[in-house]
Amino acid sequence: MSRRYLRLRRYCQSEVDKIDFPRPFSVDALCRSIADRRGRELHLHPLPRQASLSGTCGVWIATTTDDHIFYESMTSRVHQEHIVLHEIGHLLFNHHAVGAKDTHMFGDLLPDLDASLVTGLLGRTDYTTRQEREAEMLASLIRTSADDAAQNRPRSVAGKLAASLGIEASADE
Ligand SMILES: [Zn+2]
Repeated sequence: MSRRYLRLRRYCQSEVDKIDFPRPFSVDALCRSIADRRGRELHLHPLPRQASLSGTCGVWIATTTDDHIFYESMTSRVHQEHIVLHEIGHLLFNHHAVGAKDTHMFGDLLPDLDASLVTGLLGRTDYTTRQEREAEMLASLIRTSADDAAQNRPRSVAGKLAASLGIEASADE
């Protein structure tokens, strides 16, 4: 492994270490945990099919008060979750778009949103390569940490099964 790779991984792991991992792990619960820590609501939305997002499978929109993550829903659950985790990576690192080329997307994605409130809109094409690598690494590390957490702490069979599927267990765990 190259030194650059190790440095990237260490940098991303330090961010992952700040995360309060929900048990059982689910992407939804992770989003709530992150939202609580940031004091900003975090909303997940499937990308509308009509959204003009050529080649984009995930978008993060930050407003003055809330964060919105859009993900491609016409794909496997595992891929959907990876897209969300990748966008969470951009959010946690506070990556900013190099150019807001796609401002017309606001209307497609959030028709009720006042565009003047939007402080950041990040689609896949707006990031630098370095930012993409960071987001991708963070998504992988979150997934690894979630799997480790699920294995280190035995819970009920239902809870473990739910965790392995990335869904929330029922309340009677
Ligand atoms: Zn990205």
